[in-house]
Amino acid sequence: MQIGILALQGGYQAHANCVNALGVSTRFVRKKEDFTDIDGLILPGGESSTLLKLIETFDLVSALKDFQAKKKPIYGTCAGMILLAKTVVPQQFSLGAIDISVARNAYGRQIDSFIAMSDAIESPDFGCAQMECVFIRAPRVQSVGEGVTTLLRYRAEPILVRQDHILAGSFHPELSQDRAVHQYFLAMISAS
Ligand code: GLN
Repeated sequence: MQIGILALQGGYQAHANCVNALGVSTRFVRKKEDFTDIDGLILPGGESSTLLKLIETFDLVSALKDFQAKKKPIYGTCAGMILLAKTVVPQQFSLGAIDISVARNAYGRQIDSFIAMSDAIESPDFGCAQMECVFIRAPRVQSVGEGVTTLLRYRAEPILVRQDHILAGSFHPELSQDRAVHQYFLAMISAS
């Protein structure tokens, strides 16, 4: 198994470290050819407007859409979640891969970044009762469509959601010690 990590801007190295620590190899994705031979893809946090410009500059929109159409698992963190969402507020281009609406920066500006514990976890999927969550200029999930499952919440609001092969979260598990979200994503790939 090899995991691609979009490595144009933002927190890609930290994601690679997490996946490598779980014994799985990674490949930085910067051009179309990098999509061959990857079984799943992580879109890291960063700045979604900047990421969009770079994705267009490097001509990766169709490669991303093709990868998604093949039902290969994709996990988007923070700006990555914004890229995957169906609706973004304020409006900007997105892949529309998961039926959620997200509001950019709705948890506050950089100075309002915070670390908090998630709400109690009911599902056994993560093997823990609560998870530490790092929020950095995080997007807020405003609504989720019928086909979307909420896996984690903070103050009753969704912060980790899944629709089929797409996983998206507003926080940064790559900056905490717990590898449960990366493990969950690797299990999605193994099952796909
Ligand atoms: N606020 C950023 C955006 O709108 C996301 C921040 C992050 O990825 N940590 O793209």
